[in-house]
Amino acid sequence: MNLTVFGIGYVGLVQAAVLAEVGHNVLCVDIDADKVERLNQGLIPIYEPGLESLVRENHAAGRITFTTDVAAAVKHGQILMSAVGTPPTEDGSADLKYVLAVAEAIGREMEAPKIVVSKSTVPVGTCDKIRLKIAEVLKARGREELDFDVVSNPEFLKEGSAVVDCMKPDRIIIGTSSDNTEKVMRELYAPFSRNHDKMIVMDVRSAEFTKYAANCILATKISFMNEMSGLAERLGADIEEVRKGIGSDPRIGYDFIYPGIGYGGSCFPKDVRAMIQTAEGISFDAKMLKAVDERNNAQKSILFEKVHRYFKGNLKGKVFALWGLAFKPNTDDMREAPSRTLMEALWQAGASVQAFDPEAMQECQSIYGQRDDLLLCGTKEAALRGADALLIVTEWKSFRAPSFDLMKDALTTPVVFDGRNIYDPKVIARHGLEYYSIGRQAA
Ligand code: NAD
Repeated sequence: MNLTVFGIGYVGLVQAAVLAEVGHNVLCVDIDADKVERLNQGLIPIYEPGLESLVRENHAAGRITFTTDVAAAVKHGQILMSAVGTPPTEDGSADLKYVLAVAEAIGREMEAPKIVVSKSTVPVGTCDKIRLKIAEVLKARGREELDFDVVSNPEFLKEGSAVVDCMKPDRIIIGTSSDNTEKVMRELYAPFSRNHDKMIVMDVRSAEFTKYAANCILATKISFMNEMSGLAERLGADIEEVRKGIGSDPRIGYDFIYPGIGYGGSCFPKDVRAMIQTAEGISFDAKMLKAVDERNNAQKSILFEKVHRYFKGNLKGKVFALWGLAFKPNTDDMREAPSRTLMEALWQAGASVQAFDPEAMQECQSIYGQRDDLLLCGTKEAALRGADALLIVTEWKSFRAPSFDLMKDALTTPVVFDGRNIYDPKVIARHGLEYYSIGRQAA
């Protein structure tokens, strides 16, 4: 099938590459000319396991191409898939300006029937707004006869495993009431549904809602566990034992109940807040979601508070080694990352940071630029040299079995603050390191 993808970000690029891999003919369009230019040269703008080779191979085979030419893009696809960003506005609601700009462009350029697929995470009712916008522009052109449909098809990929998630989706949500649209969408995704039917077809509003409900429940699990970890720490319990104890109940399960220093990234914080705003817009008090957001904001400061307490508030001139900058492992994404809250608090207190992350160094550089209180180090060991403490922020696999002896020798004060509970307190204590983690007692 001929398919156009608007927006070559995490979602658009991965989904486009995966759809090209199964044989569809995909044209990607973005307003970022620099990104398009680099992609055409085979340079991949984001880090995502498996993505680079997938894009390069399909680009070489001519199944995926990149352009800034909107007219050509609208002409190309029988299906026009929009995966542009929906960033938060000041009050936390989703900003639909990019979504509506795509709708506008479609209305302006379309000359044949189209199926418009809304892939971005958008508040309930947005597909109706897209439909109205396209109809309005077609009317202004005197082309109301042109047929189109708008279908909600939210994306559930996880950064860090996005390619695998799109290749083997748990489910494909299709929000439409049209038999023809359903048929076309089934054809588009048939290659991903061979093992069993992954398609769940529902009405448009329920599909839009499903995406928010999914992210909100995942964020709730994390905030719940973080709240429990605060209690465990004060009550003399070990949250890691509690985690195993409750996870063994299949009604609870082991997934997504790791305590830590809060969720970040481009989705959970934004989507929880957008849902709160949606609720406020209809005078519904979303008490639970507000608490989830509040707990997360507090949790992002927990590691700083521990450090501050340990050094009795005297952080001026201290140097801290930070392991991990990305909001989670296997990505270079630092949007709303706990590392940012932590670094900014340390800088505010007059301390400096020596940081290492396997993938997010460039991203960190482009966010903060050159500054005296930030040293980006080439290895995790280099980040330790002369530091007053080690702070673990992201649970990258390569941090899990370090040389504790080397760690002890390199640090000025042999103390580790672990925001992800990746070490056994007894083991690290045996190596002569002081250890503070989340929801556990020091050994
Ligand atoms: P992103 O910011 O990485 O990419 C968005 C892209 O859209 C950018 O390249 C931007 O230049 C482009 N764009 C903006 N306006 C455009 C226009 N008029 N025409 C063409 N391109 C345009 O965003 P993302 O992380 O891929 O997220 C996209 C959407 O998918 C959001 O709604 C997000 O909530 C949702 N989502 C994201 C994830 C994730 O893990 N990142 C997962 C599921 C859903």
